[in-house]
Amino acid sequence: MLYICALFVAGLAFGSFLNVCISRIPRDLSIVSPRSFCPHCEAPIPWRDNIPLLSWLLLKGHCRQCGAAISRRYPAAELLTAVLFVACYASFGPTWLALKAGLFCFLAVGLIFMDAETGLLPHEFTYTGILLALAFASLASFDASGTAFVLRAFGLRDLSPGPELWLLDAVVAAAFGAGFFYLAWALYYLARKREGIGLGDIALIGMAGAFLGLKLTVLVLFLSPILATLFAFGWPFRYSAPRQDARVFEASDSVASSSFLSRAVPFGVFLGSSSLVVMFFGEKIWSWYLRLFG
Ligand SMILES: [Zn+2]
Repeated sequence: MLYICALFVAGLAFGSFLNVCISRIPRDLSIVSPRSFCPHCEAPIPWRDNIPLLSWLLLKGHCRQCGAAISRRYPAAELLTAVLFVACYASFGPTWLALKAGLFCFLAVGLIFMDAETGLLPHEFTYTGILLALAFASLASFDASGTAFVLRAFGLRDLSPGPELWLLDAVVAAAFGAGFFYLAWALYYLARKREGIGLGDIALIGMAGAFLGLKLTVLVLFLSPILATLFAFGWPFRYSAPRQDARVFEASDSVASSSFLSRAVPFGVFLGSSSLVVMFFGEKIWSWYLRLFG
């Protein structure tokens, strides 16, 4: 129980740092200096008003100096990170796998909020994520049986679960996910002469692949368009992402169009969310699917 509380508090702190990243990285600002300030009146925020979750609640979501509303994204990102950290421990125990899962949660939550707010998936997160995933790959794996299956099917090698298979699985999954999206991007571009998914999405599925492995990545590729479509048709209000800032990162963001396929709905949000769902429930989804159709 003490462990859970400590993890929750750590999650809040990491979520707080994530908020700084979400606010600053897409705008190309430093995440170390200056210290936290109110984006409205630019007054520096003293430490007692900068405590994750609590300060927002005590201040009732308003700046102490100027009274401007503080985005609900701040407490939301903090709470979400804390809950996910606890969920990682509850699902995977005190293992390398839990650490890897927590790291993926941190990166995915950051990218989800950045894409929702600005339509950008910064390389600072996606490329770093790919490198970290590969560094962690040989320590633990969620399920590397996808790559083992492919190796056997092609009569290449019979690898038993272990660091060698896990690392290979991470590389294969990253390449497969990114390759799949790149192909989709190219086909859409050929057909419509504009970009359907952004290059940031390709980097994000590469990162998810490197973390989750081939078997779970296949699920993400199925689940994310379903989530995005449900959202596009089920959402009662017309979604318009606030994307006034820093839109130079990717060509796709300069395409102004209200159609769903040209990213009126930021696809990275659904890619990130379905990766998180799959990380926690992927095995259950697979066995459910195999019982239905297997
Ligand atoms: Zn203020």
